[in-house]
Amino acid sequence: MANPLAKVAMKPARLITLLLAIWSPWRPVGGAEPIEIVCSIKPVALILAEVLPKSAFRLTTLAPLAASAHYFELKTSDAMKLSSSPWVFYLGKSLDSWILGAKKSQAIALMSFLPEHEFLYIKDEHTGRQSPDPHFWLDPLAVKAVLPKLTENLCGNFESHCPQIKLNNQNFSLQLQEITKSIGSEFAQTSVKGRGIITAHDFLGYFARRFEITYLGSIEELPGKEAGPKKLISLIELAKSHHLKTIFSEPQIADRSIKNLAEAAKLQIIALDPVGASKEIKTYADLIRFNAREIHRGME
Ligand SMILES: [Zn+2]
Repeated sequence: MANPLAKVAMKPARLITLLLAIWSPWRPVGGAEPIEIVCSIKPVALILAEVLPKSAFRLTTLAPLAASAHYFELKTSDAMKLSSSPWVFYLGKSLDSWILGAKKSQAIALMSFLPEHEFLYIKDEHTGRQSPDPHFWLDPLAVKAVLPKLTENLCGNFESHCPQIKLNNQNFSLQLQEITKSIGSEFAQTSVKGRGIITAHDFLGYFARRFEITYLGSIEELPGKEAGPKKLISLIELAKSHHLKTIFSEPQIADRSIKNLAEAAKLQIIALDPVGASKEIKTYADLIRFNAREIHRGME
């Protein structure tokens, strides 16, 4: 366990180990404690779990799945966990920067490994300013684009695991290509491609771009920022003109505006799951396939 007190208590034992290591060619191998990695949100853990060797690392996630990835208040126990763990990974500044409150210098952002030409920008409706959309993990090929620099970073930090990390990276890259291909052809065959979609919050940009769905908009630009009547009316009109059957909700968002919109535009409500809150989502592939399946279902 990565308990700082345990480290102090272990000191004499570590000294003996060190002396043995100097004295003889024997090195303590195997049975080592896994390296603890703290992740801000579940998608970060799902991506790292594909690249890091399972037996040597333990991943934990801070944000509870019922909470929004954008707004989360760290409890004192979380802040302590963060300040005592050397390895903290998060998604990116415009999403889960709440993690920086307790861990400024060493937290590693997956978004910092995304090449700029992959960025999608979102416009703040009030200020008119453009900023990079952080929800890149919903596009398997954007995740693939993150892998070279992520692998380089992990190899630099965990040198002895580098060969396995590189192998996992290759396998995951292939898997990401395969997922993209199978969803792409499924959407093309079933005329999901090109159809319009409205979601609860603004998270589907990268997915929609990759799989050629027309993203008509979202009820909330950000979770917690409810749409005004003007916006609701324009979404109702869009839903009608695009003959939508479904409005897509998500577990982390209050459903009042969604219910209003669904009633006014005669839409069914189907829940998507951008962070993988559902228990059935255990891997990155599960996360993408779940959302693709539900989008497909909502357009049938
Ligand atoms: Zn979001």
